[in-house]
Amino acid sequence: MGIYLDNAATTKVCDEAYNAIINAISGDRYGNPSSLHKIGIEAEKIIENARKVIATALGCDVQELYFTSGATESNNIAVQGCSAVYGKRKKKIITTSIEHSSITETMSFMGDKGFEVVKVSPDINGNISSADILNEVDENTFFVSMMLVNNENGYILPVKETFSLIKKRFPEVITHCDAVQGFMKIPFKLKNLGADMVTLSGHKIYAAKGTGALYIKKGLRIQPLIFGGKQERGIRSGTESVPLIAGFGAAVDYLNSNIQERLSHSEQLKNHIVKQLGGNKNIIFNIPEEHCPYIINISVLGLRSEILLHYLENKGIYISSGSACSKGAKSGILKEFGLNDKLIDSAIRISTSYENTESEINKLAEALISAEKNLIHA
Ligand code: PLP
Repeated sequence: MGIYLDNAATTKVCDEAYNAIINAISGDRYGNPSSLHKIGIEAEKIIENARKVIATALGCDVQELYFTSGATESNNIAVQGCSAVYGKRKKKIITTSIEHSSITETMSFMGDKGFEVVKVSPDINGNISSADILNEVDENTFFVSMMLVNNENGYILPVKETFSLIKKRFPEVITHCDAVQGFMKIPFKLKNLGADMVTLSGHKIYAAKGTGALYIKKGLRIQPLIFGGKQERGIRSGTESVPLIAGFGAAVDYLNSNIQERLSHSEQLKNHIVKQLGGNKNIIFNIPEEHCPYIINISVLGLRSEILLHYLENKGIYISSGSACSKGAKSGILKEFGLNDKLIDSAIRISTSYENTESEINKLAEALISAEKNLIHA
């Protein structure tokens, strides 16, 4: 198949998730989880089993975890659903300028609806400062949203510090964290994070596409975006995708016991890339200090990202230029981190999985060096 290094865009479905999906879709297991007969109850059990596994891994109660179609939907429910209830008197929302488009686009929509949306940018060192965020929070603020790991360069945001500062001064402010690129990759405890809501996605962690979850702290009131049969306790109406949820649960069950081991493996791969390419003056590593090693952003000076992407593709190596969702559009996020146009135009994102090896990284390094020779100096 080649060498797949685009795991921040999506991952291969792991065997455990695949088997759970097939199991949940086979034989008599076609019931509607809302049906009261035994075929429906079987389906409901599959969902509740997955909910228990994911809730336990995250550190919340099962009643606090809601299944959705993915992180985009979870982020929309968090921002819009919370604003509809808590944004009646207070009108200010704080977020960062480096969020995924499912947050930034929703925030633009909230801005159009009359909310005051403040986006805090990284400081000159490329760090989001907790103090800068806290400075923006005031008596008119009801919501703060901040991602855990940036999807373009792997920057780990100071969520815990920021939310704890906010909660001390403004305990009524609701905090939301898009943890899509951190969940099952870096160890974190929900109770330490200080988030009232957390977004998760299945297909970034070896489950299938089309499934995700939203943690909503007990007691929080959220207005649904979709109305209907009141599935997911009314937060997300619509018949649940039993097989995809089963796969999500199985993937988390598989991953949860060795997060640290896989993190060390990804750190090793990152160090290996740096060792192989670090001496090359045309190759710049756009790696922040606080970094999740699964995502490595580099610029090959003088080579446009798309050209390099297709050069590597021809050699059977799959990477991404910036964020997959932006479909090759120039990365506004990297600009926020202070990168100049030259670096942004030539930036690629390498994102590893536990299946990648040092020998694959060697092939990537060889291909990048040959791209540099053949394309820049040609
Ligand atoms: N949030 C982050 C940080 C992401 O990286 C992504 C996907 O790239 C999403 C949200 C959206 O996830 P989904 O594809 O499950 O809607």
